Amino acid sequence: MDCLFCKIINKEIPAEIIYEDDQVIAFNDINPQAPMHALVIPRKHIPTTNEIPDEDTALVGHMVQVAAKIAKQNGYDESGYRTVFNCNTHGGQTVYHIHLHVLAGKPLGWPPYFDESLKQPVA
Ligand code: AMP
Ligand code: ZN
Repeated sequence: MDCLFCKIINKEIPAEIIYEDDQVIAFNDINPQAPMHALVIPRKHIPTTNEIPDEDTALVGHMVQVAAKIAKQNGYDESGYRTVFNCNTHGGQTVYHIHLHVLAGKPLGWPPYFDESLKQPVA
């Protein structure tokens, strides 16, 4: 399967891995949007959050707990952090293997801005 994140899991392409266990791995984002920007991904290939099967509810909960652990290890549990799953085009998803962004280290804006480049033609 031609999936960038499966290749990172299989160590076919390098990444700065900061956490791994039998269910998930986490690594630094190659294009960080904050002083800390990590991605937590399941070892299992799931394309988007639309395809999370009932059997993987605990897996996704584990991803959130790992994100919190990483934030705490880096000293950002009290100042705060942002966890995000982007889904499909309007969500800004570019890699189709689910990943939980973990961003911290500066005050993060909310709500997300409207991105003209992601606008889809209306059928
Ligand atoms: P998304 O746009 O939500 O699908 O997020 C994909 C993220 O993967 C982006 O923040 C990219 O910077 C990041 N990314 C893409 N390629 C790599 C890579 N080889 N290693 C680490 N992060 C990557
Ligand atoms: Zn994959």
